[in-house]
Amino acid sequence: MRIGHGYDAHRFCEGRPLVLGGVQIPHPQGLAAHSDGDAVCHALCDALLGAAALGDLGSHFPDHDPAFAGMHSLRFVERVVGLLQERSLRLAHADVTILAEVPRLAPHLQAMRETLAHALDIDAACIGIKATTTEGMGAIGRREGIAVHAVVLLEG
Ligand code: MG
Repeated sequence: MRIGHGYDAHRFCEGRPLVLGGVQIPHPQGLAAHSDGDAVCHALCDALLGAAALGDLGSHFPDHDPAFAGMHSLRFVERVVGLLQERSLRLAHADVTILAEVPRLAPHLQAMRETLAHALDIDAACIGIKATTTEGMGAIGRREGIAVHAVVLLEG
């Protein structure tokens, strides 16, 4: 068994949709990024790559490469799963914690879970997603952006 941890954070910015876990969430601001800024997908990819000792998301999909501009980050997840499958590694379980003061994410967690389970090719029962605020503390508490932690367990 192999364990992996991933972390990602993005700033809020105007004029972009907010996409988390492949789900578009109604909010006046999105997340600044070269891709769609989906920090859930990015943290998850880094956890998967970490568990497989395959580097990080940026080394596979450089943010200066125009091919990945505005990319739907679920595609990153699917590509990373492909890299794992090539190495006979299988995702047994993933657990994700989203840190966000706004918006309220609870109504969207189940949709994220189902969307990610599909992209990861696992049962939705094998993925946990939680959201928390930081009680107004720090950059997240000042509503400057969103951060995400992810841990995964691979078998192979
Ligand atoms: Mg990112």
